[in-house]
Amino acid sequence: MNNHDNFDSLTRDIHDMPVFSDHEHHLPDESFRQPVTLSALLDQSYVGWLGYSPGDTPESRAEYLDHVRHNTYYVWFERGLLAAHGLNTPVTADNWDTVSDTIAAAHAEDPDLHLNILRQAGYERLILDTYWNPGDDDGHPDLFAPTFRIDKFMYGHHSEAKDRDGFNPWENYGFSGNTLDEYVEFMRAYIKERHDAGKVVAFKNAEAYRRPITYAEDNREAALEAFGKHREALNEGQWILFGNYIFHRCCELAAELDVPFQLHSGLAQISGSDPSHLVPILEKYPQTRFVLFHAGYPWIHTIAGLAHNYRNACPSMTWMPTISSTAAVRALNEFLDVAQSARTITWGSDCWVSEESVGAVMAWRWVVARTLADRVDMGLLRLRDAGRLAEGLMYDNNRHVYPKAVAVS
Ligand SMILES: [Zn+2]
Repeated sequence: MNNHDNFDSLTRDIHDMPVFSDHEHHLPDESFRQPVTLSALLDQSYVGWLGYSPGDTPESRAEYLDHVRHNTYYVWFERGLLAAHGLNTPVTADNWDTVSDTIAAAHAEDPDLHLNILRQAGYERLILDTYWNPGDDDGHPDLFAPTFRIDKFMYGHHSEAKDRDGFNPWENYGFSGNTLDEYVEFMRAYIKERHDAGKVVAFKNAEAYRRPITYAEDNREAALEAFGKHREALNEGQWILFGNYIFHRCCELAAELDVPFQLHSGLAQISGSDPSHLVPILEKYPQTRFVLFHAGYPWIHTIAGLAHNYRNACPSMTWMPTISSTAAVRALNEFLDVAQSARTITWGSDCWVSEESVGAVMAWRWVVARTLADRVDMGLLRLRDAGRLAEGLMYDNNRHVYPKAVAVS
């Protein structure tokens, strides 16, 4: 068979495989009670991050599509939207209102459509990061397994301190002690209790959006100094070191509870998110399994190097196929070349709305088929081994990396 035939047959096989996602932000049911228009969906997708607005006229929408339609966020968003709603014609300025009305009517008719769309696309399990209410499963434990966003605790140096979403860990979690050690003990007990109730299948940290991922310095003296002080009384360095101290305690707790620790690396604040900053953490906590999100894009080679050197570094392709589909093929090829175990390579769609998750899993199926067909063609993979490898990438690796997220049926 030539490469094209291999790609086509792999595409067919992969199309029917179930999928397990290691990272999502799906919105609560109430969000789908208001009209789900095309503009609203775009706004809640990564296409919205491109900074263009479609407006309300055929002219503004045509201009909008000229700007965004070749970006892979849009390419897969549109494919997901059409697939989820059984539409065949690409979105144009002329059919915009018709498409939008069709989507809104479908959601209005079926209040569970946002969940059914995921199931129809093959999602069997999704690890959910509800950063607005850490550890929630949106009331659907059959579908969603919660990761616990530990970031919030990194802001609790004072009873009035809040993170940048306005979340106050003292108020929200009910801490009222007086010392740093009491605070850490409270955090540990709080997370353990949730874990023992089956509500923490992983830890998650996304501080890369707010600060450099320079977590290496674990300075107890600095944390003691910062504790009890208002944010204004702390300089940037003191605030960072308090966060680091809490982060290190969470690295210990993740090992103790035997849950993977998901770390955002790459993109976000691009100046501070180079994954090589994580080397001291990988070395200090060999018993903690770190899932390195987003393939570290644009530092995909750095993630590959970390996966090559450190057994506790899992290279995750989460979000990568929609950030850049071509870079995702390069990253997956390289991760397969170097990862100590192919079982550590995971994926998630990282979306808020289901239509975009459908597009994202189409992107991932495409990336897997493209990469494996290339490897067969290059003589790096036997065709008869490709099916098993694809099953791992689509769902089995996530079951392996996150055993506590596997649904009990
Ligand atoms: Zn995310």
